[in-house]
Amino acid sequence: MSKTKIIIANWKMKVPHQGAANLLRRFSHLSFPAGIEAVVCPDFLALPLAAKTLSLRKLKLGAQDAAFIDRGAYTGEISPTDIKSLGATYVILGHSERRQYLGETDALINKKLQAVLAVPGLIPVVCVGEKARGKNPKAVLQKQLAGAFKDIRLKPGQRLVVAYEPVWAIGTGRVIKRSEVVLAHLLILGWLTKRFSPTQCQVLYGGSVDAKNAANFSDISVVDGLLVGGASLEPKSFLTICRSMLK
Ligand code: PEP
Repeated sequence: MSKTKIIIANWKMKVPHQGAANLLRRFSHLSFPAGIEAVVCPDFLALPLAAKTLSLRKLKLGAQDAAFIDRGAYTGEISPTDIKSLGATYVILGHSERRQYLGETDALINKKLQAVLAVPGLIPVVCVGEKARGKNPKAVLQKQLAGAFKDIRLKPGQRLVVAYEPVWAIGTGRVIKRSEVVLAHLLILGWLTKRFSPTQCQVLYGGSVDAKNAANFSDISVVDGLLVGGASLEPKSFLTICRSMLK
């Protein structure tokens, strides 16, 4: 049975707070096709506004990160329970920018994953990917997966998403070859389905996806959706990307 494809807009820290209301309003006017789960991940400050502006029946909300624990003396952190109660369904974890600039390790991502999975209805999107093209992606992916998913168990009905995001393709305009995507996704899916039920796991691709190249991924059966950065800031491009994945 084919799964509903998930297309995630990661706005990163690119939208000034004063501009968020306008961008959210423009997203709220889009008609997303059936068969796609479109998800918008604004920054934390815009999350409550996003929950008010968007119809959460048409579009899901996500956060770009979460704390590794749910409550306590952790200055500056954001509780997974609060993320859920603000209206989010998805949480991106371990994005390569957080690994690079904030020193996030696989061990920390594992703790965040446990904290997110402890909140009913919250779905983690764990990012993995090699830094340099062709530099042993298999070993890098296996190490990141083993670290992030150490001792993780899923309850019946719980879901998890992994986003394969080769760092060399993020924000660079470098387009991945079909054979590279297939190889990485098969590896990730194989790894996940040895530990979890295939019905509980989805694997997305991310890295310089835009309105022109999104259709290249639509017929790859092991690509369950996309994680989109730059091109998700333009509502019409994001809609085109969503539509392209159904072709
Ligand atoms: C991302 O931020 O996860 C990403 C894939 O960015 P971009 O689409 O801009 O490469």
